Amino acid sequence: MSDATPIVNRVALIGLGLIGSSIARAAREFGAAREIAALDASTEVLARVRDLGIADEASGDPAAALKGADLVILCVPVGACGAVAQQIAPFLEPGAILSDVGSVKAAVVAQVSPFVPAGVSFIPAHPLAGTEFSGPDAGFATLFQNRWCILTPPETAPAEAVARLTAFWTRIGARVETMTPQHHDLVLAVTSHLPHLIAYNIVRTAEDLGEDTRSEVIKFSASGFRDFTRIAASDPVMWRDIFLNNREAVLEILSRFNEDLAQLQRMIRRGDGDGLFDLFTRTRAIRRSIIEQGQDTAAPDFGRGRG
Ligand code: NAP
Repeated sequence: MSDATPIVNRVALIGLGLIGSSIARAAREFGAAREIAALDASTEVLARVRDLGIADEASGDPAAALKGADLVILCVPVGACGAVAQQIAPFLEPGAILSDVGSVKAAVVAQVSPFVPAGVSFIPAHPLAGTEFSGPDAGFATLFQNRWCILTPPETAPAEAVARLTAFWTRIGARVETMTPQHHDLVLAVTSHLPHLIAYNIVRTAEDLGEDTRSEVIKFSASGFRDFTRIAASDPVMWRDIFLNNREAVLEILSRFNEDLAQLQRMIRRGDGDGLFDLFTRTRAIRRSIIEQGQDTAAPDFGRGRG
């Protein structure tokens, strides 16, 4: 536990899965909140949070969890944000900041905004950090180190509230950037949602193969396929909700992807080696710049690393 002055007095985390439990651990480890309250619909999750000792209080009662909370963060699947916001709205304290961690922003804004009481600042957020694991045991305090957290504050959000949420995420290790929800959704459609869709589809194609070929695919999966299986092992509820809630941006990017794929198909059919070489040289440069910007390492871990 750090001895720096906490950024908030009491943070209430709703949904103690991978992200919620990682925020709880990080808030304690880096001294971002004086008190950490956990609220979850599942009694098993709450029992596990108590056993792990990652929150000061764990409760299924919104009134108890939100009492005195100056920061409340929804850490539930995107599709549940509206219903949970409606449920907790009467218990939000005046002056509190309400935030979330959903992987889609415009749909969460549309679902949650109608329930935000006057005097509460709703500032959506999305930490670009995660693993393919779920639940309170999967979280860890360093998940957000050197990762981006994107805030999409409405124009009416008080600057002080945006600054405090920024300070909270910075304290637990993240680098913060702000943008509009629509821009966020388009960028994430390319950087996260499309790659997941491709991974789900490749693994599905392998699954559809005949029995003999399928077992060989698994046996010899030391190459690219294994990395795709890691991505395709991501939480089905979370990813169902992402595709349903970022439909427009995903479909837009998918149609561009299909055009580019058709062009690659033509290059292979025509034996256009120069074209393939030029393309693969450009894509290699993108990989290098990601490593240079500290968003991955060059270590060949074949997808086994966390984050
Ligand atoms: P998770 O590990 O499955 O945790 C979700 C938690 O929310 C579970 O404890 C779940 O309880 C609880 N929950 C579900 N519906 C609820 C409801 N209606 N009321 C109260 N609690 C409810 O998921 P996660 O990976 O932490 O994802 C949470 C959010 O973070 C999602 O919005 C996701 O888009 C976002 N996010 C995820 C990642 C990632 O890589 N995983 C990265 C960035 C952002 P039950 O288990 O009982 O259902």
